[in-house]
Amino acid sequence: MPATAPARRIVEDLNPLNIVAQQFEIAADYLKLDAGLREVLRRPRRSISLTLPIRMDDGTIRVFDAYRVLHSDIRGPCKGGIRYHPNVTCDEVSALAAWITWKCALVDVPFGGAKGGIACDPKHLSRNELERLTRRYAYEIATLIGPDQDIPAPDVNSDAQTMAWIMDTYSMTTRHATPAVVTGKPSFLGGSLSRFEASARGCLFVLREASRMRGLDLKTATAAIQGFGNVGSVMARLLWDEGVRVIGVSDSKGGILNKEGIDIPALLRFKAATGSVEAFPGCSPIPSDDVLKTQCDILIPAALENQITMENAGYIRAEIVAEAANGPTTPEADLMLSRKEVMVLPDILANAGGVTVSYFEWVQDLQQLFWDEAEVNRRLEQVMVKTFHKVHDTAKKYGCDYRAAAYIVAIGRCRRSAAP
Ligand code: NAD
Repeated sequence: MPATAPARRIVEDLNPLNIVAQQFEIAADYLKLDAGLREVLRRPRRSISLTLPIRMDDGTIRVFDAYRVLHSDIRGPCKGGIRYHPNVTCDEVSALAAWITWKCALVDVPFGGAKGGIACDPKHLSRNELERLTRRYAYEIATLIGPDQDIPAPDVNSDAQTMAWIMDTYSMTTRHATPAVVTGKPSFLGGSLSRFEASARGCLFVLREASRMRGLDLKTATAAIQGFGNVGSVMARLLWDEGVRVIGVSDSKGGILNKEGIDIPALLRFKAATGSVEAFPGCSPIPSDDVLKTQCDILIPAALENQITMENAGYIRAEIVAEAANGPTTPEADLMLSRKEVMVLPDILANAGGVTVSYFEWVQDLQQLFWDEAEVNRRLEQVMVKTFHKVHDTAKKYGCDYRAAAYIVAIGRCRRSAAP
């Protein structure tokens, strides 16, 4: 027997489904939500698992696992992105669907949450293979999606082209063009102007309000961004336009640092040409994960879940963390950041601009009446600013952090709809 017992290592639960459940329970306790309603709102209403057999370009057949989860349709048809990633699981998709339910309720758009995913690595698929996979998936879920039921959108590794394939496949089953079945599609098919930039733009609107509260001047602020895809790269450009010095950026291949500020328009051109931010001239290379530890005012996780954990939360030196990604911070890390008085703008608030403009796109498709870019951005700003202040006031009222406050608002709205 050793003289002293070895120190017990606390292992963090990184299952996103358990994490979203913990976040839900904290707010449900504040709201004294009854047990039955907790059960209704905690669990997904429907989840399907699929196996998609695809003929590859070399003639072989491969089978891909795929999912579509509908978390809650209490407040309207469900809305949610489709993710293409090797690590996609049913639990991850279910957690992401729940986050969208809370997000839609928080910004008060009449949607519930859904999510889809295909376990694949699109970087190792040809365009034709990706099209066959997407169309097969769309066909399999065609009876479950639709403008009044469930409306997919882009997420990690999917884009406007993916949405166009889904819309086209779905429209083959309805025998007429049905643009409102997806959002985030190209504008020539009924996509909304400004949808591509919406998640990042919404994040910027929230960040502006939060900075004012914090007494931080964006014109002299510095920022670091993890992830340089749909959301992260647009965020970088919007921050650049705003006068914020972006000093650190990373993607899955590597990170870069330049304390004087990275030339973002040049970095966007470099990424378009090389496929990565890695080795961008004039910057020091850093390991991908180190971008989170950058000494800066604003940190923007814009990649995947579980990036800020109890392993690295102690090293975060930003004043504000704006969660452009879904689920980037674990509950343990949340507590650590809160003790350090870091202001965390939670995902269901910070990246809700995407689903808000998706809602605008759906409205425009149904009306067949399209708005100009300024109109979309004006409406988006209105929603994001109002929502930020609602969260801020709720946090003050309950004496809680912004995440709990955002959930209190969202769950409170779902409760009213579930038991009117
Ligand atoms: P994307 O696939 O376009 O980009 C993801 C980026 O993250 C890529 O640059 C990738 O290289 C990088 N990345 C992956 N792993 C990384 C790591 N370990 N370290 C650093 N970088 C890493 O995806 P996206 O659409 O920009 O989505 C990013 C996040 O934003 C996700 O959490 C997504 O759910 C969320 N989100 C997306 C939208 C949308 O409309 N696309 C809306 C709301 C929220």
